[in-house]
Amino acid sequence: MPIRILAPDVASQIAAGEVVERPASVVKELVENALDAGASFISITVEEAGRRLIEVSDNGGGIPADELPLAVERHATSKLQTADELFKIGSLGFRGEALASIASVSRLTITSRTEASAQGMQLRVDAGHASPIKPVGAPVGTLVRVEDLFYNVPARKKFLKKDVTERRHIIQSVTRYALAYPQVRFHLRQEGRVILQTSGNGERREALGILFDAEIARQMLEVVYNSETLSLSGFISPTSLTRASRQGITFFVNGRPVQDASLISALLKAYHTLLMVGRYPLAVLFLDVPPESVDVNVHPAKAEVRFREPDTIFTGVRNALRRALLAHSPVPEMGEQLRWQPEQSWQPPNQPAWQTPVHPSSAPSGTDWDPFDSRRWDEKTPAAPSDPTTGAVSSQQARLPSERLPLLRPVGQVASAFLVAEGPDGLYLIDQHAAHERVLFEHYMAQRGEKIPSQALLQPQAVELSPTNGRLLEEQLPTLSALGFEVETFGPHTFLVRAIPALLTNLDPGAALRVLVEDFEEDESPLQAELEARIVARICKRAAVKAGQTMSPDEQRALLLDLESCQSPRTCPHGRPTMIHLSVDLLERQFGRRGAR
Ligand code: ADP
Ligand code: MG
Repeated sequence: MPIRILAPDVASQIAAGEVVERPASVVKELVENALDAGASFISITVEEAGRRLIEVSDNGGGIPADELPLAVERHATSKLQTADELFKIGSLGFRGEALASIASVSRLTITSRTEASAQGMQLRVDAGHASPIKPVGAPVGTLVRVEDLFYNVPARKKFLKKDVTERRHIIQSVTRYALAYPQVRFHLRQEGRVILQTSGNGERREALGILFDAEIARQMLEVVYNSETLSLSGFISPTSLTRASRQGITFFVNGRPVQDASLISALLKAYHTLLMVGRYPLAVLFLDVPPESVDVNVHPAKAEVRFREPDTIFTGVRNALRRALLAHSPVPEMGEQLRWQPEQSWQPPNQPAWQTPVHPSSAPSGTDWDPFDSRRWDEKTPAAPSDPTTGAVSSQQARLPSERLPLLRPVGQVASAFLVAEGPDGLYLIDQHAAHERVLFEHYMAQRGEKIPSQALLQPQAVELSPTNGRLLEEQLPTLSALGFEVETFGPHTFLVRAIPALLTNLDPGAALRVLVEDFEEDESPLQAELEARIVARICKRAAVKAGQTMSPDEQRALLLDLESCQSPRTCPHGRPTMIHLSVDLLERQFGRRGAR
């Protein structure tokens, strides 16, 4: 075909695709316009999940009659004049595209009245074709009606998700603005029911309760931080409140909800070592920076931003959050007082092996943060000092998960699943599978960067995955090669496996590959390091000895030795405990021996 300039309506449908992806994008753009117009009350009505009707009315400044036809033209805006202004944008809109885009894929009616005029004016646009404006009675403000969204773009319509999903996106979007603008009264009605209503009294926790739920809102910790370069406010969850995905995390930059990997990563860094691997905090955070230090014009839907000095922002946000977190919850930092303290006065019985005290030099230092550590600190059980009367380390302190293990003597195996071991401070029941997972995990992680042992297959094997999993895997290929896999694409969602990590050689290559994509979430893009840790955790889970497997005394001893040399022996890579410790102290209490002597 020869090169041709696209017809205007085709071009605008293409452009609309970037701005208007789904009903919630329409709601977002219209609400932004109302906020830009200075509204103090915004009412949103949605029918049939936005397919039939989306109506947004506001009591803002309105559009003057002579400008009304312009409002639906592409690149027509009242918010920007020169290119310089792009770098100091104070409004939510500036691209002059939203109304034009919406108009090209729906039937659009705008009714608006300014304070200065006695009556309202109405403009109708049908699939991009405007009729002449006509006067109507209307209050000051603007009412935008979007009917039959995508009626002329059947392909787009097909891509819409189930009604519940589209409705959820709408609610989420409105709730976010309600949170960001607590002084504005919001009202959302879907299918005739009031879904969300805020009072506009300036209280953010009110909207927080709608975004999550009242109980969660109550538990969320407030963040208030101001420095020369940024100010940060909002809410983050205590370490006891987590989710399996990052979906509970929202950042606003200068009042605009954005997706920004570095902000999320700064948040996760603040929780570093405080959450289990694969768990994420909830957060609603408002970052305000001078407009000239952020470029908001990088994404058609304005969902991404670029910071002039990303490192400063990253460090500032991380530190502010870390501080807030530690101020609010008595989370133990790894410090002197939390170290394992072997009681020197305690005299072991006759076994000479025990006279070696706990590896004193191997206790983690205060600054030594292991990025892949998966301990979970329980804020409700602060460290208790060791009990001076018995010399035994109290059970609470013994449970502090950051500590290395003392030397253990294997006693036996129970139910082919648990090891029983004796230590200087009591009895240990060890989950053999979880413990082995931990051992393999630390071993594997320590080898990263060098060459991870892999086993070449005698014959490369083709493995076909589902299209979704295939796509997910494809994105991870570079990561996989660093982890001992040798895999290449071999046709659509088919892969050729040449080598797999030595640990997995008992699995067939297909199973080994599937292990990796098992529960990747499609819309998640974890950080590289986190991703590797997750993949490795998954590999180790498959490779670890299973419950039900009988272990010989030698194998038991070897596992305990390996566990003793782990950095975080007390949890598996997924954060579950590897062991239960029954301290001498506890045993004495249970047997009513305490104080008897
Ligand atoms: P942008 O918001 O990027 O300027 P839009 O297409 O969303 O582009 O809107 C075009 C123009 O229409 C805006 O610049 C504004 O002047 C006007 N406008 C749109 N919605 C409203 C509203 N609710 N109240 C007042 N003016 C509005
Ligand atoms: Mg706009």
